[in-house]
Amino acid sequence: MVDRFKDPGMHLYDFADHYLVECPDCNRCATITTNKEETFNLFKKKTFLCRYCGKFEENAGNHDLWLSGTCNGNTLWAYNLEHLEFIEKYVKAKLRESNKDDERGYYNQGLFSRLPKWIKDKSNREDILKTIKKLRNTVKSGSV
Ligand SMILES: [Zn+2]
Repeated sequence: MVDRFKDPGMHLYDFADHYLVECPDCNRCATITTNKEETFNLFKKKTFLCRYCGKFEENAGNHDLWLSGTCNGNTLWAYNLEHLEFIEKYVKAKLRESNKDDERGYYNQGLFSRLPKWIKDKSNREDILKTIKKLRNTVKSGSV
């Protein structure tokens, strides 16, 4: 049976309710959580919490995303581990069917169509998976 990864109909908003950022105080991995009820409010309240140094901001400012790395000259980024896993599943599914038509109709739907072109590029897939693995490990250790 072919295990194809289908677009679950998710949107970036589904991932962006919490995201991993770099703590400006200790440079380790911290979390920003947004208020779900206010998802469509651009000025929604964001709470910053660093579990390493305890830094807390009730109205978090802008912070650099933690899950960000360079891959073949492109920047691979994700809001959080779920988002990273989503990209990984997509790339793995595409690897499995690499002999088939690249731009199958259903891959162009929903969130998939928003993935940057280089992520869909066959020649980048192995490197993307390596970068994803590396990024995931930095979350476990809490530092780059
Ligand atoms: Zn910190």
